[in-house]
This record gives sequence, C-alpha cells and structure tokens, in this order.
Amino acid sequence: KPLVFSGVQPTGNLHLGNYLGAIVNFVALQKSHDCIYCVVDMHAITATLVQPDLPAQIREVTAAFIAAGIDPVKQIVFNQSRVSAHAELAWVFNCVARLGWLNRMTQFKDKAGKDRENASTGLYAYPNLMAADILVYKATHVPVGEDQKQHLELTRDIAQKFNNDFGPRIAELGLGRGEAGGFFPAPEPLIQPQAARIMSLRDGTKKMSKSDPSEYSRLNLTDDADTIAQKLRKAKTDADAIPSEAKGLEGRPEAENLVGIFAGLAGKPVAAVLQDFGGSQFSAFKQALTDLAVERLAPVGGEMKRLVADPGYIDGVLKAGAERAAAIAAPIMDEVKDIVGFIR
Ligand code: ATP
Ligand code: MG
Repeated sequence: KPLVFSGVQPTGNLHLGNYLGAIVNFVALQKSHDCIYCVVDMHAITATLVQPDLPAQIREVTAAFIAAGIDPVKQIVFNQSRVSAHAELAWVFNCVARLGWLNRMTQFKDKAGKDRENASTGLYAYPNLMAADILVYKATHVPVGEDQKQHLELTRDIAQKFNNDFGPRIAELGLGRGEAGGFFPAPEPLIQPQAARIMSLRDGTKKMSKSDPSEYSRLNLTDDADTIAQKLRKAKTDADAIPSEAKGLEGRPEAENLVGIFAGLAGKPVAAVLQDFGGSQFSAFKQALTDLAVERLAPVGGEMKRLVADPGYIDGVLKAGAERAAAIAAPIMDEVKDIVGFIR
C-alpha cells in the first residue's frame, strides 16, 4: 500500500522554495494517499548544535504545514525526536551505509564547506537518519525538492543492501514482501517539475535556502507585503526583456528563476507565463510577480502567525501525531531487531 513520508527541518526562515518545492506537494498528495509529515528536529541540530529558538522553530514548521492545508487529523504530523525508532533504525543504517557512499553526498560537501574537519559527525551521517525516517514506516513515496534526490538514491541503496545482506534471515522469519522478497521497499522521490529547485534571489546559481545569511536571498512564508515587494525589487536580474519562449531563458539563471517562481505560484507552465510577459521589462514583470506572491503567501503567513499564537494547539497536534507515528514504526522496528538478531 502506498504511503507518503516527508520532512522539513525546523531551522527557521521557512521560504518559498520549501513551500513550492515541497509543502504544496504535501497538501496535494493527501487527497490520494496516507501521509506522514515530520518536523525533523534531529536533523536541525546537525549543522548548528545550540539553537535557543528550536521549540519556536518546530512550532513554526508545524504551523506552516497546517496553514498550507495539511489536515493533521487525517494525516500524521509530528516531530521526529518524539519517535525514538528513527534514531534506533538510523544506528542500524550507520552500519549498512558505506563510507564511500556518504563521501559522494553533495549536501555534506556544501554544508561542511572548507572546514570539513570541524563538521559534526551528525551532518555526515544525516542521509542515514533520513533513510531511517522514511523506511521506519516502509514509506513508498517521498515528496521533496530536487536537492534531496541524491539522498533518496542513497535511501534506496540502503534498503537494497539491508534486504540483500539479511536476505536469508528475512526469508527464514517470513518477513519478505511477496515473491520479490525484500523487507524494505525502494522509496521513490516525488519531485514537482515546476518548482523542483527555486534559486536564491541574489544568485540564480545557488538554491534558495534557510541557511543563506542574506535575508534578500529568499522570500519567507511569514514576510509581509512590503517585505516581499522590497525583496523582489532588489532581486538580481539582467538587462534584457522577458523572452517569449523558453530558449530565451538559457544562460539567464536569474530570469529563469523569477519566471519559474511566477509559474509555480500561478500553477501555470513556464510557457504560459512567457506568452503573457514576453517583451515586458523586469520592472513590470516584478510588479506582477509581487502582486501574485503577496496574494499566494499572505494568507499562509497570516494563518501561520495565528496558529503559533496558540502553542497549546500545535503541541497537541505534535503529541497526537507522534503517538500515531510510533504505533506504525514500533512493529517494523521490532522486525528489524529480529532480523539483525538483537534480543528484545
Ligand atoms: P537548509 O538550508 O537548512 O537545508 P532547506 O531550505 O534546504 O534548509 P529543508 O528543511 O532542508 O530546507 O528542506 C525541506 C524541503 O524543502 C525538502 O524537500 C527540500 O528538497 C525542499 N527545498 C529546500 N530548498 C528548496 C528550493 N530552493 N527549491 C525547491 N525545494 C526546496
Ligand atoms: Mg536542506
């Protein structure tokens, strides 16, 4: 049975990339699937250990999920650290994944930067925990932005190596799935082609990110109309007009990004946006983009602010969600222990 799992880190500055690249898809999938949406607080301490605002950031991501339209009664919404099976399975996966696999992960290279010796071991092992987040529920579909594609491939490699290495034991215990055998499924990424990779407003070759030190690099979900207008006015562009066909965006990363953002917010293909704006100057296009961004983001930001003002409600959602998540994970984790040979 298909099951959707995805997570967002409570690292502050929830932005348009998180919204269009991930959360909008979370909302759409709940119509057709059972979904588990997780505020991955254990991932949030991999890059910066001490975060005095972590509880507020956890509540903010939870509020964003609900404000965007996720139904926390039908779907499961919780914070990762509450369900200890994530950490337990991550340890087993630390012993499944090979150093050579993790050494290829580009997110670690980007986030560790030049001072790699000083990166936490948690940042290095992050993809193993992410694999555990997904597989502890035997989730089959994972809505993410394109930057997470490599981690999803690693998740599949981990699932496959576990299934192969423990194959005889899985068969002996009768825990394989159908004739294909195998205990863990190979989860598939679900990537929104329209908004797979929203780029920084300051540099069209860098992904929009929570951790970018420049506030002007991103539109945050809680930005007010004036801030959105100001950030878009300052957004980097080139001197040419908007082209009327997609090939006119080649080699123009900032133009491509702004047109892509428009398309994502409007829910239209890029070609349709170019048809409407081909020949326009950026000043006129940015004005239309500002109006659209305010129209789409202001209600979400407003609802987030309303929700975080009631931490009792948010905390209740997270607690109930964690109980439901733990009930799914516990029997799977018991089977993992039986397969590995841990006495429980
Ligand atoms: P950080 O810089 O701390 O890693 P982040 O902005 O990458 O923060 P995450 O919590 O790591 O946010 O990612 C949450 C989801 O948002 C993931 O599915 C990720 O792929 C997606 N996402 C993040 N940035 C973008 C982006 N610029 N465009 C599209 N999707 C994105
Ligand atoms: Mg990220």
